[in-house]
Amino acid sequence: MAHLSDFDIEKRYKAVVKNTSRLTPPDTEEVREIVLEVKDPEFECEVDQSFGVLTKATGDFGNELHHRLYSVADLPKRIKGNPQLTMLVKRCSYVDDFSGEKYPGVASNYLCDRKKGDEITLTGPFALPFKVPEDKTANLILIGMGTGIAPFRAFIKHIYKNVKDWEGKIRLFYGARSGLELLYLNDKDGDLTNYYDEATFEAFHALSPRPHWADPIALDKALEGQTTELKELLGSSNTHIYVAGYETIHNKLNKAFSNILGSEEKWRLRKAELIAGRKWAEIIY
Ligand SMILES: Cc1cc2nc3c(=O)[nH]c(=O)nc-3n(C[C@H](O)[C@H](O)[C@H](O)COP(=O)(O)OP(=O)(O)OC[C@H]3O[C@@H](n4cnc5c(N)ncnc54)[C@H](O)[C@@H]3O)c2cc1C
Repeated sequence: MAHLSDFDIEKRYKAVVKNTSRLTPPDTEEVREIVLEVKDPEFECEVDQSFGVLTKATGDFGNELHHRLYSVADLPKRIKGNPQLTMLVKRCSYVDDFSGEKYPGVASNYLCDRKKGDEITLTGPFALPFKVPEDKTANLILIGMGTGIAPFRAFIKHIYKNVKDWEGKIRLFYGARSGLELLYLNDKDGDLTNYYDEATFEAFHALSPRPHWADPIALDKALEGQTTELKELLGSSNTHIYVAGYETIHNKLNKAFSNILGSEEKWRLRKAELIAGRKWAEIIY
């Protein structure tokens, strides 16, 4: 994957916050849905693209600007000719290993603090690795953790609303701590259920074993719960796997798919085939 500093940030667009709402309950991690109107009809950002947000840097690392990427979380619309984008943002913070002090993530806190009417600066659009396969009989296993659900929410709607007549199976596995299920279900302007075709689509939700605790999400358990079907799908050469979320997802997936296929070696070989056949794509933050 390209380094963030390789992305072109010279071309910039102004966007106005049209709406911002918290999707998660107050006592859980904050995830907001933010709707933006880009003040330039030229800006086109599709579901297989991401866009950048430019903020002022803290100056700690000698950079004046802080640039972070975000996924398109819904089908892009146009309002009076201007593009309207929806994004999901998780308010991030991290603890410094040495001092133990907690630092707020720059872009995510900036975005979560924006109010309706505030202006922000966008860059992009930039390509995402999740392409709709040309063959409509292809199977898709989509795995999103936390805000990793964002690109898939838009992607699935795009397949059922715009591509149409999808014949392959689409299986969405999404993991979230308590409350984050709203990322998927409480999609106010167009619940996913309005779009998908029940014959081909199924979603599986993995929760943290103890709600409100910072436990890891049991994504591996959700996958292993569907062993028979996943084994069958992995036995087909026409299956793609797309993954989005945090770094920790790799270990969970390796463990789950090794169990599903019967050994680490079998999964290592199958994953290598998927990668070589361009049927594996991932966005890891
Ligand atoms: C293609 C793509 C799509 C994405 N889509 C989404 C999305 O839809 N929604 C979403 O919420 N996120 C998304 N992300 C993640 C997003 O780009 C940001 O990484 C995230 O919001 C955190 O950015 P931040 O500026 O708030 O945090 P930062 O300020 O960049 O901090 C984040 C991390 O940087 C490190 N760090 C920074 N400064 C220090 C320091 N002084 N000392 C020690 N460590 C430090 C820490 O490890 C910390 O965890 C996406 C990422 C990619 C690559």
